[in-house]
Formats: sequence, C-alpha cells, structure tokens
Amino acid sequence: MPRGAAPGAGDERQGASPYALAAPSILEAPAAWRAIDFISDLHLSELMPATFAAFAAHLERTDADAVFVLGDLFELWVGDDARHEPFARRCVQVLAQASARCHLAIMGGNRDFLMGQALLAESGACALVDPTLLVAFGQRVLLTHGDAMCIADHAYQAFRRQVREPAWLRGFLSRPLGERLALAREIRKASDTRRQFDGEGSADVDAATAMALMREAGATTLVHGHTHRPGSETWSGGFVRHVLTDWDLDAGKRAEVLRFTAAGLRRIAPAAAPAD
Ligand code: MN
Repeated sequence: MPRGAAPGAGDERQGASPYALAAPSILEAPAAWRAIDFISDLHLSELMPATFAAFAAHLERTDADAVFVLGDLFELWVGDDARHEPFARRCVQVLAQASARCHLAIMGGNRDFLMGQALLAESGACALVDPTLLVAFGQRVLLTHGDAMCIADHAYQAFRRQVREPAWLRGFLSRPLGERLALAREIRKASDTRRQFDGEGSADVDAATAMALMREAGATTLVHGHTHRPGSETWSGGFVRHVLTDWDLDAGKRAEVLRFTAAGLRRIAPAAAPAD
C-alpha cells in the first residue's frame, strides 16, 4: 500500500463530499486466466489455528490462476516490522509459497491497512488498491474492502480518516514495535472487537454511494467484504453486489471463496487439505 498519501488525497472530488472515494484503479486480467478466487476477512491470528490451517490449505491447493484478498487478511497489522514475529512469519511463508504458483493480490482492510511494501515483497504479493475495477473474462467487477462505503457510521468514518492521516501514521509507526504489538493484544482482548471495528451488527455499505462508483467505473457488479454478512443481492438499476464471508473455523464454522470465471461468480468451499 502506498505510504505517505491518504486515499483520495489530491483527488479534487474530495471537496464534493467527505465520503467521496478515489477513482478505482483498473486491473486487466491476463487473457490466459481461467479462474480468480476472492476471499476477505480471514482475520488471521495465532488465536485461530483452524482458520489459519484452512487458509494455508486453500492457498496451497486452489487451482485458480489468481487469489485476490479484499482486506482484513490479518486480525491486526501494526506495521511491516511485525512481519518477523513468529505467527506473521508463518503467514508470510504461506503467502510466498502461494505467490510462487499463482498471482496473489492483497488489499488492505480496516484492520490491516498498515500492510506495506516490505510485507508484500516478502510474500511475493501485489498490492490491490481499494477500490479496483477488475476487467476479466469480458466482465467488469468493482472490488473494495467495503468499510469506506459504510458511511452511516459517522464515528467510524471519522476514525478511518484520522488513522489514514500521514502524520498519524508516522506517529504510530514511530512507536516501538513491542508497544504496538501490546496495543494490538489489548484491542484483541476487548470482547466486542469485531463489532467495534467491523461492520458486523452496524452500518452496511451505502447502496447509493456504491452504485455511484459502479456507474463511474462502468461496472454493474460489486464484490466486497468487511460487513461479515455474506450474501448476494440485486439493487435497482440492475446492480448486483456480492458480500464475501469472514473466515472463522475456530469459534464458528464458516469459510468460503467467491470464484470468478467466464461463467460468472459462484461461492465454493475452500480447497481442503487431505484428511489424514
Ligand atoms: Mn473489515
């Protein structure tokens, strides 16, 4: 993720609305690709070993040409200097092995927007800008994490703008790693973290905001995560949005991949590790 510039900085449309989003980056899939996997909200942490195992198995076994992670791969990412921590190293190893056999693209979410070039380089992954217009199989799909479009949650949007200010980022990242990791543990201990930081039980993506961006991008399909409310629905005007599921195979029992092929989008189970 680029550092030093808040998303939308330099975009004069910011003046029009405090919630105006940056114009989508455009990504054209190579003609040889046959399948792209979308996943998000894995919230990887050492406290969720079954979820990590399912994620590792999918990345090792998927037959897709590309895996796109639409944010919140990590429960919390406090800066790329944390990539040498034991659990983070295991994650990087899984990502690096996957990126050696397929295209791996990672978007920052509200919990891991501090992922940077060092982590991506070691993982062999490409940065996926939020939002991105993906052109593949003759179709145009708008990809976003989703939190920027949950505009009814004013407190969250204010927080979001604050933590993306270059000065705030510099200040946070200049704190010792141990201090940032301790803060992450504190946040995780709070029982309602998911409720507090994600859309779960609170605001949804604002349909008008999303449709305006889709219209601008010439896309009628939106794929996002963040809200942990998986499902697909058709909006007025023929717009369709697909919400990815979060992954939880420890406390809960759900994990799913949205697979994109020439035939469209369908939900599939993650590729499983062989039973032993
Ligand atoms: Mn999120």
